[in-house]
Parts: sequence; structure tokens; C-alpha cells
Amino acid sequence: MAKEVLRRAFLDLDLFHGGQADSVHGEFGPALGWCQPVNNQGQTTEDLVSDWIQNNHAEIVRIRDVLLAFTDPHLVAQGQALANYVLHDLVPAVTSAANDPSLTQVWLAERLANVGLLPMFGFPTRVRFLFHDRPGMAHEWPPERGVVDRDLDIAISQFAPRAETVKDGLIHTSVGVVDYQPQGNQVVEMPAPLGPARSIGFCRSCQAVDDSANPAPVCQVCGATAQDDPGYEIIQLSEPKGFRTWYGRTRDFEGLFEWTPRASRPKMGIAQLQGAQRANFEVWSDQATVFVVNDNNGYLFRFEKLLQGETWVVRDALAQVGVNNPPLAGGIPMEIRALASIKPTDVMVLGINNWPAGLVSTPTDLNCRAALYSFGFLLRCAAAAEACRRRFCCSGCAG
Ligand SMILES: [Zn+2]
Repeated sequence: MAKEVLRRAFLDLDLFHGGQADSVHGEFGPALGWCQPVNNQGQTTEDLVSDWIQNNHAEIVRIRDVLLAFTDPHLVAQGQALANYVLHDLVPAVTSAANDPSLTQVWLAERLANVGLLPMFGFPTRVRFLFHDRPGMAHEWPPERGVVDRDLDIAISQFAPRAETVKDGLIHTSVGVVDYQPQGNQVVEMPAPLGPARSIGFCRSCQAVDDSANPAPVCQVCGATAQDDPGYEIIQLSEPKGFRTWYGRTRDFEGLFEWTPRASRPKMGIAQLQGAQRANFEVWSDQATVFVVNDNNGYLFRFEKLLQGETWVVRDALAQVGVNNPPLAGGIPMEIRALASIKPTDVMVLGINNWPAGLVSTPTDLNCRAALYSFGFLLRCAAAAEACRRRFCCSGCAG
């Protein structure tokens, strides 16, 4: 519904411009354009779309009714809430995504897909590059040579500093992070390739994540503290813009390389969820933020800025490729981060009400945690099969 309302507004307002339809997610122009003036009165795209929505209530209700025809009665019952969402919440949500410094996508539609406002069509677009050659001219952007690309969920493990990637018979070792962007004919390194830090409470004992604005000093689920081992810690997450090697320091692939996938399973923040009762389950589903975290086995990553340019490196990773005295910028504090993929998505949570006597149910027990993961994968397989049968698309197919 958000997509159709935006499409109609852009069409009526003549905001679609040729040559800007590069995004597979639509053609709403660059994210930067949303808050910029587009006419002589100084009105922005945001202003015009907001006015269009307020002046076209009847059209919005018609769009909603077309989309709800022959759908589940449960959805039809939410018709008023859907209309209210478009009237009051859609434009602020688009503005928030357009201005969010943690999002790297240039095109507005792609950003909106990443925050869950537009459909994703099942294709991963949160792609990150590992640069193993310095990128050349901007007309070859995004580059097809000198890079390996992966979805961010995978990149935070495969491209993490010290991790090795094999390509065309060579081993490339990631040493740090970089944000290359085309400017004119050149490709330049942009500042702050780690992106803004996000604090979370991270429990290595029970695997809980506290993603509230002020994470608690001890684990709210199992009570673990920073002194326990494995314990609980407030850590700074980073979604890097890109990764790179120390150019020229490859080695031949002879059948052996070091690569360990170190990122966690997807987790969501702890919260008091009010689920519906079904059989012996409590069932909750809604949109939530899901975290995949690589905390370097609890050691985190210590990033330092190079003297030249805007690359941030990790000393251990440089030592691995024989660079022992890197030219570092003095006086700039080290950034200690975990690598993360943070995304809003649809989530279903099941709680088991009554466990049969004699069964262990605590996630702090390794055996029990393994059994719970197995049960989760079983459910995901069942949900994916059901979604395919109904011709929905879901990430269950992918994983
Ligand atoms: Zn815990």
C-alpha cells in the first residue's frame, strides 16, 4: 500500500524523472532528493507528497480497498488502521529513512525496502564489497573488477578483518574498512567508513540482546555480569560501508585458507511480548529489528585510522599479511566495535507454555540451546514451504 500511494503521488505530481530509474526497487529518485526543494516556492518532495496525501483521502481509501479485496478477514479488519498509517505515519517514516546516516543506499526506494516500507522482492540488496584492488575510474561504478561482493549478513564474517577470501586462485585477507564513493571522474575515500555506533547489551551466556536506548548494566534475562565468563557486555555495533585488503598482499591458494564464520544467529531484542495462546504455545508476530553480530569471539575489533585517506584498519589483520608498522594517524582514538547486520523484518516468536516434566528448557544449557535451534529451523522450513505454496516470498527459502 505504501508503494502504491507513493507511486500515485509521484505520478500526479510529475516527480518521476527519466534516467533516475536505476534502482530495482522503483524510481523515487535519490534519498538526498526527498528533502530538497523541487520548485520555485521552495517546497520539497516531502512537502508535495505530504500535501498530496492530505488532499486525496478518497483515493487512498480506494487504493486500500482494491488491495484488500478477497484477502484474509483478519487483514480487512485492519482497514482503518492501514488508512490512518498512510495519512499520519508514512511521510515521517520516509523522511526518517532518507536522513538515516546508518543506511548506505543511494536510491530512496532501495532504502525504503531496507527499512521495511517497500517490498524487497526477495533479493538481498544490502551488498558490501571487499576491495582487493584500489578502484579506478568512477564511470565503472559500481565496480565489477577488483572486488568481491556479499550480502551484509555474510560480509560481517567473510570480510571481517583477518578473514580470508579465495578468488581466482588467490587468497585475499581483509585488513579493515573503507567507504569508496564516485565523485566526478574520481573514486574517493569518504570519512567514517564504520558508520555510526549503536550500543546494545550483548549476553554471551544466554545469547540475549538488549537493544533498548539505554541497555541495562547486567543481563536482564539470565543475570550475567561483565565479570562472568561467558558474560554480559555493552558493545558498540558497526555496519561498515565497505571492506578492503592491503593492496598487493595476496598469496597463492594452495588448498588451505583460514576462514571461520563467526557471526551469531539472527537475534531480536528482549521485550515483554503479549502473544496469543494457541495449543501449548504463545504466538507473537510483528515487525522487529533483528541483529546478526560478529564480536570476534568476544575480543571485538580494534579499528585505527590510517595516516593517509579514510581507511580504518586492525593491526592484527595487517600483521597477518606482513605489515607490522602501519602508517597510522596519531591522536585519533581507536574505535572498538563489533560488526553487525541490523535490519527490521517480520518476526514470529513462539513460547512454549508448559514443558513436560523432566525436560530442560533453559537456553543457557548448550544441549537445550541446540535443540531449540533445531526446532526453530524445522519451523522455518515448514513456514517456507507454506509461503511457497501460497506464492508469497520469504527469506526462509534462502536459508
Ligand atoms: Zn544472559
